[in-house]
Amino acid sequence: MVGPTYARRLKRLGIETIGDLLYHFPFRYIDYSLISPIKLAQPGEIITVKGKIVSLHNEYTSRGKKIQKGIIADSTGIIEVIWFNQPFLVKVLKPGTIVSLSGKVDFWGKKIVLISPEYEAQNSQHNLTIHTGRLVPVYHETYGVSSKWLRSRIAPLIKTIVPNIDEFLPSEILNKYGLPELKISLEQIHFPKDRKSAEISRKRFAFEELFLIQLAALQRKLKWQQRKLAKNFLIKQERILEFIHRLPFKLTNAQKREIEAILNDLSKDKPMNRLLQGDVGSGKTVVAAAAIFVAYLNNVQSALMAPTEILAHQHFQTLNQLLNPLGVKIALLTAEQKKWEINFDLIIGTHALIHQRAKFKNLGLVIIDEQHRFGVEQRGKLIEKGKTPHVLTMTATPIPRTIALTLYGDLDLSVLDEMPPGRKPVKTWVVPPEKRASAYKWIEKQVKENKSQVFIICPLIEESKSETLQTVKAVISEFERLKKKIFPDLKLGLLHGRMKTKEKNKVLIDFKNRKLDILVSTPVVEVGIDIPTATIMMIEGAERFGLAQLHQLRGRVGRSDHPSFCLLFSNHQDKNSLKRLKALEQTNIGMELAELDLQMRGPGEIYGTQQHGFLELKVANFSDLSLIKKTKVTAEEILPKLQNYPFLQERLKEYIIKKIEPN
Ligand code: ADP
Ligand code: MG
Repeated sequence: MVGPTYARRLKRLGIETIGDLLYHFPFRYIDYSLISPIKLAQPGEIITVKGKIVSLHNEYTSRGKKIQKGIIADSTGIIEVIWFNQPFLVKVLKPGTIVSLSGKVDFWGKKIVLISPEYEAQNSQHNLTIHTGRLVPVYHETYGVSSKWLRSRIAPLIKTIVPNIDEFLPSEILNKYGLPELKISLEQIHFPKDRKSAEISRKRFAFEELFLIQLAALQRKLKWQQRKLAKNFLIKQERILEFIHRLPFKLTNAQKREIEAILNDLSKDKPMNRLLQGDVGSGKTVVAAAAIFVAYLNNVQSALMAPTEILAHQHFQTLNQLLNPLGVKIALLTAEQKKWEINFDLIIGTHALIHQRAKFKNLGLVIIDEQHRFGVEQRGKLIEKGKTPHVLTMTATPIPRTIALTLYGDLDLSVLDEMPPGRKPVKTWVVPPEKRASAYKWIEKQVKENKSQVFIICPLIEESKSETLQTVKAVISEFERLKKKIFPDLKLGLLHGRMKTKEKNKVLIDFKNRKLDILVSTPVVEVGIDIPTATIMMIEGAERFGLAQLHQLRGRVGRSDHPSFCLLFSNHQDKNSLKRLKALEQTNIGMELAELDLQMRGPGEIYGTQQHGFLELKVANFSDLSLIKKTKVTAEEILPKLQNYPFLQERLKEYIIKKIEPN
């Protein structure tokens, strides 16, 4: 339907099929619905006039720019019209052409004219318009794809394809909630007859969106539960108590409660599928360790997948300390490693774990740490390495409970809502540029007098998930500058993603052993790194990070009972980014930040979505709790009789392929 150039452009908007194009909804409308006889046009008004071009010609202004001046007439009078820098118009709007023009009436010198209106040629005065004379849809655009282009492509589809599209929502649902039919909704969301009609169509699509998400999740849950478990675990209470007594700290009540919930899952003959959510530093690792220990006691292998190599190494050390004395054999698999060990009780690695050659004797427990870093396919592949393993997914992303239950309706939810005792909130400041020098002095003093250890984070230079050479160069030159010019007396280390695993680990171990005062790093340390002696986090270019990411980075400090600090440096002190950063000064609680972020962003975007690849909503709003509830109830009602609704079944399949299992 479109050539390769447009296909490429449209792909940037996520549009690959006609269906996608129809579901590319406008985010607002320009109100050109006031159609006025020319005689009544008043300066200041935004109107549409329909009439005939009397004349149109190019004129040069005194500054050498081209303007287009013309006259349009209807049965009530004439009005002048002006465009700027669109010389081709004289060829498009020849005298005699019947047009519809929408725009602002205003003074041009002493004359009343129509200024730079949107235009649309008409076959007859009664023709339907799409760019003028109505509520005109405005879309998210990309280079080379304007709203005007999109309108001109979508409008014919509304006439040709849409009338033949089958409704897939059961009619009793539409009736119950007063939602319009699909055909009508598609027409009215793009080219509404009035605001109310646009609104109700939007409501239908919001319902549809949340309903499909939840129906898919419930279906996943059902399928998962129908799988036969290789073997259910025996829980040996006294060994678990032994594990707990050997810990270097006392478990929090939240940790105890959730360990119990997990052990309960593990003792059943259905495979566990649980999401463990807990703010940065809430102590998720030890909860996972308890589950691993139980698997070990049942002669079953576990696999722990971490998002980065350094995190895998850290888990290797931590879990060895906790579990090795109890007999658990732990292996570490890194990307650089060539051979695959098979004699272990627990293997820890990055996504290297899912490679073909990875073989397990009897994988019975899969743990995925910081799950937002993994795609659904990656998780799936690891899970398929076992017969039907128990699955524990961990995340620090503070998704409000209702949202978690929507997105992951197939998972059981555990929340660590309590921090280990003695933690103090990390004191956070946004540092204005003029205070940079004194901030450096303060840091130096903290290191010298209080033996503080400091992270300095440089931003990723480009919008890219992995580190580009440019980012690495930037962090290296900043490291050199800090070492030579700012902190010549202190010991600085450098860390970035392009270093060899060995080098990375050496730097981190040196930092942990206090051989370094300051670690200059890219955001590779963002998730999971646990160095309790570090108490100062300084972040450069803070405005380049999302709030979720900043909270994660800040979570690298404040991991002991010493007071900790976070300094946010920002180059762009514009109002909005400042407001966002100030939110971090106000609260240390991820969930509260998530809510603040939700308020500051538009609807549909959830905390950390962009950088973390969560499912994004197109129409619905995660803060619309009543709609979430309604759609959930509806999904639960419909699922058992899904086979009665073939169109819905088909739509659900399509939806799952597109959203849940891309590629
Ligand atoms: P996260 O939830 O961010 O993964 P970790 O599991 O890395 O958190 O734990 C953060 C730090 O808190 C670690 O140093 C860990 O040893 C410590 N910790 C965990 N639980 C407790 C507890 N109940 N009491 C004291 N310290 C704890
Ligand atoms: Mg962790």
